[in-house]
Amino acid sequence: ESPSFSKMLIVLTIGGGGLVAYSEAQSYGVPITTKTSESNKKKKVVVLGTGWAATSFLKNLKDPSYDVQVISPRNYFAFTPLLPSVTCGTVESRSVVEPVRNIIRQKNVDMHYLEAECYKIDAENKKVHCRSNSNNNLNGEEEFVVDYDYLVISVGARSNTFNIPGVSENCHFLKEVEDAQKIRRTVIDCFERASLPNLSDEERKRILHFVIVGGGPTGVEFAAQLHDFVNEDVARLYPGVKDLVKITLLEATDHILSMFDKRITAFAEEKFQRNGIQLKTGSMVVGVSDKELSTKQAKSGEKDAMPYGMVVWSTGIGTRPVIMDFMKQIGQASRRVLATDEWLRVEGSDNIYALGDCATINQRKIMEDVSEIFRKADKDNSGTLTVKKFQEVSNDVCERYPQFKLYLKNHKMHTLGDLLKESKRDAVNESTEVNIEEFKSALTQVDSKMKFLPATAQVASQQGVYLAKCFNRMEQCEANPEGPLRIRGEGRHRFRPFRYKHLGQFAPLGGEQTAAQLPGDWVSIGHSSQWLWYSVYASKQVSWRTRMHVISDWTRRFIFGRDSSRI
Ligand code: FAD
Repeated sequence: ESPSFSKMLIVLTIGGGGLVAYSEAQSYGVPITTKTSESNKKKKVVVLGTGWAATSFLKNLKDPSYDVQVISPRNYFAFTPLLPSVTCGTVESRSVVEPVRNIIRQKNVDMHYLEAECYKIDAENKKVHCRSNSNNNLNGEEEFVVDYDYLVISVGARSNTFNIPGVSENCHFLKEVEDAQKIRRTVIDCFERASLPNLSDEERKRILHFVIVGGGPTGVEFAAQLHDFVNEDVARLYPGVKDLVKITLLEATDHILSMFDKRITAFAEEKFQRNGIQLKTGSMVVGVSDKELSTKQAKSGEKDAMPYGMVVWSTGIGTRPVIMDFMKQIGQASRRVLATDEWLRVEGSDNIYALGDCATINQRKIMEDVSEIFRKADKDNSGTLTVKKFQEVSNDVCERYPQFKLYLKNHKMHTLGDLLKESKRDAVNESTEVNIEEFKSALTQVDSKMKFLPATAQVASQQGVYLAKCFNRMEQCEANPEGPLRIRGEGRHRFRPFRYKHLGQFAPLGGEQTAAQLPGDWVSIGHSSQWLWYSVYASKQVSWRTRMHVISDWTRRFIFGRDSSRI
């Protein structure tokens, strides 16, 4: 018997938490009857995860009629946008985390936390199967089951290795705080090892070759941080080996930062080349051994081997095993990500919600909805509409799905009719009749290009806020589950479906320069955007404690440089 587990149960039940009907509780001799009758009446909400989505849900949940159980292997929230800064010591790891117990200390909602991971969701019996954190210092693993009335799945995603041989064993990932700490230690290790006597120059060069795989925002920011570290601190701390350092950024497509405006991509590529960061685009990694990386050129098929000292793998995200297993149970096995409706309810499961990186709103449904709008506009059922009519109806579509509006704006178009004109090879004018199915295929191209909901902290936290607001008014929500009359046509609902509001994105490029792409297609690159980045990230911290830590780390770095102790 684990004494710590018994103690935890007693604390929870005496504290009136009582949310969790532990089937194991009896076997530990803890009387479940200690639950108050008031807590028994409360709806049990189980929240999986303590990341962006879960935290914003918990912070915004105000209705005291819930009993909330938070389950996550990580007893803190991590401010992921600052993880690249942790890798080179610009910011300390403890400055970017906030204990979840500080977050759930809400005054009027019962919230409890269990440090465990959920390994199975049993939707039929409304239970989640959990295992206590095996990475804790006690090395004890306990399994238990928790009941729920509502389940909020926000377990995020894991790094995607695409099953390329040797990646899991030999590469570093940059997903969690532990990853950033490990990278920081390895970077310093490489410099210390390369400074030892009796090494050939070739070996020193290999050790100081840092390779980053993936030219997305995380890979680019890490490359920029590393370059700053080498430029600003290594020259001072390791003068003997400074000139042997090489940073290579590998990207499988033709450009880095492809999700950003072309001006930002061009600036970043040019800046990196100027800074001596080797950019290899169109280059795919096909295998990684302990000292060498094998690549293949996408176009020519030419193969190459690249000796390295450290590789950071940052190529995107994949699905967690618990989600894959759940998707199989509910008939979503063929999908890559858990699909929800626009109210963030998992399709086919009434009381289960999924938000953040582990889920996405079913885009197929959105496209069906959009084509239904066009079918309704086709009053004489001819299967065609004039381009002029398409232009008019497109306003309704953009009103309902602002993502389309954003896409059009980014592509310098005014209506979806312009998109149609662009996609058709033949000349069209306002009176040209266009087949609705043809238009649907033009829309499908938009769908695949624009990614309705990118996997970002911005989306996850907006979803958390949205869902908490729904839960705060759940009674009305349950009575009228299908959306407002004017949107859904039938039934009434107090809430609109979830709508993502894009507030812009940053790409820090090093040397106190950042690229910012803000709403309205506004692009700013340079030192002023870096100050904007500092202010936005300071203001977005979840607590005053972390805000003070982060600001003081930035100040310390300006004055004293980065700390290169390998602790
Ligand atoms: P997460 O924040 O990953 O949280 C998942 C939670 O679930 C964690 O607490 C985890 O411990 C827990 N969990 C995992 N498995 C289980 C389980 N089996 N049972 C229970 N709990 C579990 N986005 C931006 O918008 N801007 C940025 O600048 C930005 N920079 C980034 C930089 C880096 C280095 C990284 C890695 C990501 C960045 N992102 C950024 C993306 C952003 O961090 C994610 O989109 C966001 O974290 C998703 O939130 P989430 O709540 O879905 O998942």
